[in-house]
Amino acid sequence: MARTDAIVLGAGIVGTSVALHLAKRDLSVALIDRAGVGEQTSYGNAGIIEGNTVFPPAFPVGLATLMRIAFKRASEANYHLSFLPRVAPWLIAFRAASRPEQLIETARLIRPLFARAVAEHEKLLAEAGASRSLRKTGWLKVYRSGRSFRALQGEFDLAAQFSLPLQPLDWCGARALEPSLSPVFTHAVFWPEAASISNPLDVTRAYAARFAQLGGVTLIGDARSLHRSSLRWRVETNEGGIDASEVVVALGPWAGDLLDSLGLKLPLMGKRGYHRHFRTQRNAALSRPVLDADVGYVITPMEQGIRMTTGVEFAARDAAPTPRQFDRALPKAHELFPLGDPADDKTWLGCRPCFPDSRPVIGRAPGLPGLWLAIGHAHWGLTLGPATGRLLAEMMAGATPFCDPAPYRAERFL
Ligand SMILES: Cc1cc2nc3c(=O)[nH]c(=O)nc-3n(C[C@H](O)[C@H](O)[C@H](O)COP(=O)(O)OP(=O)(O)OC[C@H]3O[C@@H](n4cnc5c(N)ncnc54)[C@H](O)[C@@H]3O)c2cc1C
Repeated sequence: MARTDAIVLGAGIVGTSVALHLAKRDLSVALIDRAGVGEQTSYGNAGIIEGNTVFPPAFPVGLATLMRIAFKRASEANYHLSFLPRVAPWLIAFRAASRPEQLIETARLIRPLFARAVAEHEKLLAEAGASRSLRKTGWLKVYRSGRSFRALQGEFDLAAQFSLPLQPLDWCGARALEPSLSPVFTHAVFWPEAASISNPLDVTRAYAARFAQLGGVTLIGDARSLHRSSLRWRVETNEGGIDASEVVVALGPWAGDLLDSLGLKLPLMGKRGYHRHFRTQRNAALSRPVLDADVGYVITPMEQGIRMTTGVEFAARDAAPTPRQFDRALPKAHELFPLGDPADDKTWLGCRPCFPDSRPVIGRAPGLPGLWLAIGHAHWGLTLGPATGRLLAEMMAGATPFCDPAPYRAERFL
């Protein structure tokens, strides 16, 4: 490349969206990944664009729930015992961030980003000629116990303050939306303004193709080769070294591999999760993602079949897969929906990159001039990729950002 203004490290949905937004601003951009575009975490998610998110996930409360998790009887969470000493400080911070007043504060701080989530995807999808992947059919959360449904009142109140529409439903109301669901739940909530994607991998690839149309270059390279070369940053790729004065780190759950070596220690931890695709029995169908809230999994209609995704597993990022949660939830999923045979041979494993306060880091890397961060999108990287791309590109170009980026600064951890 003759001249590179910016290098983006990591071609998941977050890095690709950042690269595309920078290219839209006429910058010359190199997007670098060691694998194919969108093939890692951004491939395997539940496909939900959760613009309606109110509260972030919270540390479990109640002795019964904690005991179920501790004795590995829960399908919503699992852990590797050997990992607990390493993850303990993160869990303590996560627990502190899960106090009710903190959750309300987080909900307010993340709202401006989420409020733009669906609209920013719609814009990029239209530009990329991929609007057919978007379903604006909302998402449905079903509750097997009246108690867990009644516990939602705080969320409903805050949703009203945010002007987020929702419809509490009984089983008949939910069946009117999704006729293939069985009567194993008593209540449901329909969030009409959420959207979903029928093939997350294709969407990231479509954004990368649009990036290429605008002159962006995608290369294979190892981000860990990043180093200072006089006043610029330099990274090695299959096509030789590339240097630029601005570099964006968008390495998802691998960000720490690079940042630790640059001396920037941030509390980024991976919450692992699994998926598998299934055919359907008879003429059963789904029109939108469905969360079986009391069990802790999601079923989403995808081009490959019905994708069933699990809750979180606390284990080392690179440890061998242990899809017990998936196996525990599967009979419950069969109860709810007539899943047929598996459509793939094995269960996919991915890792949500999470900070303990459930907010991403978007902005400058403290103490490392020219380095920018777009990491830690946790349960919402697909949702927030395009909004993050726009925000960071505006910051890097010195334009007025569409929302206040202060809540996403890395300095909150230093
Ligand atoms: C089971 C599950 C369900 C989910 N459901 C949803 C959902 O419904 N909605 C939603 O919004 N989010 C969901 N998420 C979260 C979402 O998938 C992630 O937040 C998002 O994919 C993170 O995107 P990313 O671009 O930051 O990371 P990634 O997609 O992981 O991209 C990081 C990239 O960095 C590259 N990389 C790593 N190391 C190097 C290196 N040394 N050199 C070069 N390249 C490197 C990788 O190859 C990868 O392409 C889910 C996640 C899981 C696991």
